[in-house]
Amino acid sequence: MKTHSILTFSLSLSLDSSGPPLCKFFMENRCVKGNDCLFSHDYKPPKKMEVCKYYVQNKGYCQKNDACPFLHGEFPCKFFHTGTKDCMQGDRCRFSHDPITNKEMAMAFERVCFAILIQQKQFVVRI
Ligand SMILES: [Zn+2]
Ligand SMILES: [Zn+2]
Ligand SMILES: [Zn+2]
Repeated sequence: MKTHSILTFSLSLSLDSSGPPLCKFFMENRCVKGNDCLFSHDYKPPKKMEVCKYYVQNKGYCQKNDACPFLHGEFPCKFFHTGTKDCMQGDRCRFSHDPITNKEMAMAFERVCFAILIQQKQFVVRI
């Protein structure tokens, strides 16, 4: 598998004639045909640096699984990383207890926990 940048990717969309063309609804997460769709669903959306709201609301369950463009378990655990409350979930926590090493992830986390972090005056990344 070659990884394409966005630019070369959109080029290859029109040039690559092998197999059915990619489903443009699927790429926008709007295709309702699922397996019956005539177009290719062989597309992984670029991850959005935002936590998946279904994952949060449905206690760690998101219908889209890996195809979901939003972050699931890799998103930093709010309790663990802000230290407001101890995370009671331990190893079973649905969110990541690993140190936040990715800057974009840190910023996404800050956006979500802004109110908490501002109270604590502790920011993961200084901007
Ligand atoms: Zn489709
Ligand atoms: Zn999701
Ligand atoms: Zn946790």
